[in-house]
Amino acid sequence: MIKPLLVSAALLCSLQAGADAIRQTKGDFEDKFRQLDEVLPTPNVYRNAAGEPGHQYWQQQVDYKIQARLLEEKRRLEASLTVHYRNNSPDTLRYLWLQLDQNIFKSDSMAELTTAFAGIGRRGPATEAGDGKKPAKLSMDELRRQQFMADHQLGYDIKDVMDGTGKPLKVTIVGTNMRIDLNQPLKPGQSTEFSLNYAYNIVEENAVSARGGYEHFPKDARAGGNDIFQLAQWFPRLHAYTDYEAWTNKEFLGRGEFTLEFGNYDVELTVPADHIVAATGSLQNADKVLTREQRKRLKEAEKAKRPVFVVTEAEALENEKEGTNASKTWRFKAENVRDFAWASSRKFMWDAKGYQQGGDTQPLVMAMSFYPKEGGDLWKKYSTEAVVHTMQVYSRFSFDYPYPVAQSVNGPVGGMEYPMITFNGPRTTLQDDGSRTYSQAEKRFLIGVVIHEVGHIYFPMLVNSDERQWTWMDEGLNSFLDGVAGREWDSDMPWGIEPSEIVDYMVSSTQVPIMTQSDSVLRLGPNAYTKPAAALTILRETILGRELFDFAFKEYARRWQYKRPTPADFFRTMEEASGVDLDWFWRGWFYSTDHVDISLDKVYKLRLDTENPDIDFARDKAQDLDKPMSMSLENNRKQGIREWRELNQDLKDFYDENDRWTVTNKERNKYNKFIKGLEDWERAALERAVQEDKNYYVLEFSNLGGLVMPIILKLDYADGSSETMRIPAEIWRRSPKEVKKLIVTDKGKELTQVELDPRWETADADIENNFYPRRIVPSRVEAYKSEKSKAKIHRDIMQDIKTELKNDDDKDNKQ
Ligand SMILES: [Zn+2]
Repeated sequence: MIKPLLVSAALLCSLQAGADAIRQTKGDFEDKFRQLDEVLPTPNVYRNAAGEPGHQYWQQQVDYKIQARLLEEKRRLEASLTVHYRNNSPDTLRYLWLQLDQNIFKSDSMAELTTAFAGIGRRGPATEAGDGKKPAKLSMDELRRQQFMADHQLGYDIKDVMDGTGKPLKVTIVGTNMRIDLNQPLKPGQSTEFSLNYAYNIVEENAVSARGGYEHFPKDARAGGNDIFQLAQWFPRLHAYTDYEAWTNKEFLGRGEFTLEFGNYDVELTVPADHIVAATGSLQNADKVLTREQRKRLKEAEKAKRPVFVVTEAEALENEKEGTNASKTWRFKAENVRDFAWASSRKFMWDAKGYQQGGDTQPLVMAMSFYPKEGGDLWKKYSTEAVVHTMQVYSRFSFDYPYPVAQSVNGPVGGMEYPMITFNGPRTTLQDDGSRTYSQAEKRFLIGVVIHEVGHIYFPMLVNSDERQWTWMDEGLNSFLDGVAGREWDSDMPWGIEPSEIVDYMVSSTQVPIMTQSDSVLRLGPNAYTKPAAALTILRETILGRELFDFAFKEYARRWQYKRPTPADFFRTMEEASGVDLDWFWRGWFYSTDHVDISLDKVYKLRLDTENPDIDFARDKAQDLDKPMSMSLENNRKQGIREWRELNQDLKDFYDENDRWTVTNKERNKYNKFIKGLEDWERAALERAVQEDKNYYVLEFSNLGGLVMPIILKLDYADGSSETMRIPAEIWRRSPKEVKKLIVTDKGKELTQVELDPRWETADADIENNFYPRRIVPSRVEAYKSEKSKAKIHRDIMQDIKTELKNDDDKDNKQ
């Protein structure tokens, strides 16, 4: 129950004005609701003010022809590359910049030299900077990495760089970049061609923690074991040349991913004849590399309800036992993709299922998975199904999946995305009895990672954002959507995507703005994945609502499919298409390190004075008598002390009959004069208000976290009813530190309790100051934490269920 604090207010209309305007601090006011246009780049003919590609939008076209040979024993790749480059920019180019990603593994690369001890750096198990909890020690992982790097010659060998006429081209290698000086300037609208030969030694993924590499399986039946190869960043790729940054040739440091051009690929991959190859693109020579039976199964899979095995487990196991000196060449073509990756192994089984998408773009998509026996039932049941589910959900938010295949490949890489193909890590565990089991966490990981990586085929493989600069544009948008898809798969699984789950990060000292360049972000996971995903969830469910959000988001995807959006294009499109000014939201969530903590400090009830002394004086008296009796008086009474006036009744006077609340005609005349002096509308308003006798509550809020957000209230009443009130964030626009809100309820509708953000929608960091009156805190923060670390999901129930129940007299029990 709220203890009413009575404050007089003669006329309601004069209640609020003025006071807050004085208290607000100007700097805060400007920061929270200042227009974003002064931060965003000026709209131009390439990117307009609506956040759309402008009428002179352009991007380069880069087509690749590659012939590559996988030398299995040497774990080496040798290839020749021909690039056709079309300059669609309005600028004349005298040189081209290429990305030599393999050079990151050279011992003198900038990435190697600048990796801080126990700090953040490479992709992989390094301690996250700034968490300060882990002791400084040399891990086995680090030792293994050092040894591998010492034992192997890594990085690209590049030679024979020639233009289309066979003339040599001058090249300059700068770390992970290479500049090719053109023999003739490349004018706008012109194309040029060059070719080169290259080779490199493939890294062992588990040793160096890269985004591709090989994994060795020493226990396979074949003498010497087998490998799975996942090949990515495996050819010199053109840097993007853009309208907003010209050459995007920032050094590859490992974290910030890739900024790439669209083009067509024609790739021939020569591998051992018993290997199965999965790649970006559609297979051109199935008749040469697949058996008649395999082709028949692939056809069957097009209309199958569940995935059909193109290579069965038994066949894969048979393959695993031997090797071959013969080789086969698999040829793939891919149109309008921004990259190409592939995988090859004799260990792969292969299942496929047609996704009948309908529409004109790509009515049939083949969803396919490639995995070794180690993938087990986890992969057989869920990988390909998760690929299909992803397309169903993501296309609703964007566009039809435009490519002929969507693939999930198991190997050493935990999770990585490329056009039409993804690498996903989770596996089963081999038990002593020969069975393979997995924990619920591994199940969640497999489904989650497949959704996430296949989701990346939309963002950024099709909506081609600049990953090197803004990780959140692909990871954040994709994490938001994988959350949507995850909830639609099985809402009982803890996907870790609710707004409340980003709170710890947002109050931490390691937070940096989301708009920080990828390699400089301190904690990439919460910064580039979880926080933007939480922000977009809040934008969708709480601020815009699904109808406006989904329309605007889809518009963004549609506008930028096959094109290159920047953050401003996203921000502008979301505002322009939803019709809602979101400058404050982008500022707070993407440009600042503020967190959300709104406190409901006080609720008081205002009384409407009627000005009629016969009513108001009586009320004043009742209020006065409502005070507790003073202790002195109470003790006097207990002692039986009798007052003088009681003992001397004969000396009574006028004031013993009339107290200070006695009304005289003087007050009545004043009241009548007041009523007469009112305008007709004022009198009518007052009379009606007096008659209706409503309750006027004032709620006082303070903004402790800095981030302005909507105020969502659950109002509980004495009659047992309850209602929710949603106040837009704009309530803070003139006073971002503290605001008051008047809530009027009908006579008899008494407010008993108010709760702020009752459904934890806004990532409010301290929910205890959301209750009025404050509640008794039900449990300590520590209790939550210890429960989390022992989460039941980490148990391998599939194995544990086999445990025999032990009797009381069992030996084990007595120990
Ligand atoms: Zn990702």
